[in-house]
Amino acid sequence: MTTVAPAVSSAVLKLRPAPGHDRPLDLRDFCDLLVEEGQMTQDELEKLVDDRRGVNQSKQHVLVYLAEQNLPDRKRPGHMLDLDTLTQKLAHYSGQPYLRIDPLNIDAAKVTEVMSVAFSQRHKILAVEVTDRDVTIASAEPFVSSWESSIAHVMRRPIKRVVANPLELARLTTELYRLSTSIQYATGKDMGHRSTLTNLEQMLELGKGKDPEANDQHVVNIVDWLLQYAFEQRASDIHIEPRRDIGNVRFRIDGVLYTVYQIPVQVLTAVTSRLKALSRMNVAEKRRPQDGRLKTKTPEGNEVELRLSTMPSAFGEKMVMRIFDPDVLLKSFGDLGFSTDDLARWQGMIGRKHGIVLITGPTGSGKTTTLYSTLKTLATREVNVCTIEDPIEMVESSFNQMQVQENIELTFASGVKALLRQDPDIIMIGEIRNLETAEIAIQAALTGHLVFSSLHTNDAPTAITRLLELGVPGYLIKATLIGVVAQRLVRILCPKCKRETEVDASIWQNLTAPWQTTLPKKVYEPAGCLECRETGYKGRQGIYEIMQMSDGLRTLVDSKADLAKLRQLAYREGMCSLRLSGAQKVASGQTSVLEVLRVAPQSH
Ligand SMILES: [Zn+2]
Repeated sequence: MTTVAPAVSSAVLKLRPAPGHDRPLDLRDFCDLLVEEGQMTQDELEKLVDDRRGVNQSKQHVLVYLAEQNLPDRKRPGHMLDLDTLTQKLAHYSGQPYLRIDPLNIDAAKVTEVMSVAFSQRHKILAVEVTDRDVTIASAEPFVSSWESSIAHVMRRPIKRVVANPLELARLTTELYRLSTSIQYATGKDMGHRSTLTNLEQMLELGKGKDPEANDQHVVNIVDWLLQYAFEQRASDIHIEPRRDIGNVRFRIDGVLYTVYQIPVQVLTAVTSRLKALSRMNVAEKRRPQDGRLKTKTPEGNEVELRLSTMPSAFGEKMVMRIFDPDVLLKSFGDLGFSTDDLARWQGMIGRKHGIVLITGPTGSGKTTTLYSTLKTLATREVNVCTIEDPIEMVESSFNQMQVQENIELTFASGVKALLRQDPDIIMIGEIRNLETAEIAIQAALTGHLVFSSLHTNDAPTAITRLLELGVPGYLIKATLIGVVAQRLVRILCPKCKRETEVDASIWQNLTAPWQTTLPKKVYEPAGCLECRETGYKGRQGIYEIMQMSDGLRTLVDSKADLAKLRQLAYREGMCSLRLSGAQKVASGQTSVLEVLRVAPQSH
């Protein structure tokens, strides 16, 4: 052997037990290393050891105790020695890889078969990956290994060890075992050994009265877990999809779908039934699409609304739940992504007593969030805010909301007529889809109301030509339109992993054309870490093109309004295009050049 083992200090050696012996982590041993690293003094060490004496030592993990002391990280000013940092140090000292467990990457059914929950909890270990070649086991006690042989024996393959955060480990162990137990019971599987029954045999078995019911406690547990898990992962949608042999549960997070769980089809059916019952759908009806809503609470106690819809598919009923988190739907203007300049323009528009304010953009561009957040700031006790929506995205107690119901001829237009008899101050019309709705919106504005609505156009100036195309006379647009906002959502770079990069002058030119703007000194690009599931992005914010009507713009509105002229004048009056608004977010380090190019249309 010519390789030289890395120099290991005596403090590190002290941590490691003799082969065949267990050595649970000791506070003094671990702190010796921190002293050696210059993270604490010997006196501080003695005090920590003294303070811990007598306090439920055996129950609390050494690292959890240390993390609770809120010690500063002397190697990284401004940071603390938090539990993750300490766990990484422990991994480093032990020579085992550190793993930040991503629950979305864990196959709960598979890993919980490696050992019983009792064994897992007794040894505080959790299987995190099982392959044909080996089993990866996470623990926060790298120097305890007596359990290894029994698992290697049962699994007949070698064990890979990783070090994980002790609190995360305990929490996930409970969650994963509870979930897999619920699914096994709901499936009617015998606990402890894997069912080898074919689908047909399973169906026969279910015929004996084992078909899980919507109110079965295990099905209730699975549904509770699903919802809680979706909130934790910041999911915006949950998809429950039957396939030929298995059911898929997928979450959409920041616009991307992830498969989070596969469950037997009959359990999936029971889960769907429970959700249908909770949202007051007709449980027996499985052939027609249905929709419903459901209010629940996040683990933090926030009320969340879910909108559910079902659709018959080849393998059974598919369900999609959209999650309407008030924290997501109602935001401050800063969180919406308005720049200072945007905000001044927007407030100038929404502060008016009467007229029409339009928001445009494709589905999923965040229009509803902007509308709700704005209305919420306007809905004071002296103001009557009425809405007509299709559908009502979120029930907000300070608005009077009405749902479009085409089957009883309650359309946007007839709805607004009814609203106008209710003495409203501010009216929100979900969408202008036809001349009739446009006319009624204009009539409401002319009779002294502030009207908000949305249109499907690519940019702000096109809203004017779209209204003209619908047949709205130019003079009525001039008389009522206050302004138009076009918007898109860009993903925000993950603050944990974004990295600096050079910006190519020609790409920057392309991004900001036709304007000449200075090249930013530095921009960032996505990297990817566990925090952001390797996507490099976390969360989304709006970019805006805000066109405020002026006398100049009004003179251009007539039956032959020239889109290019409208746009040029709006630019001259200070309107920022979507691309340019995105470029500002790139220059301030919030998003990447590629993301803006992907989301925002070319400026004309
Ligand atoms: Zn990241």
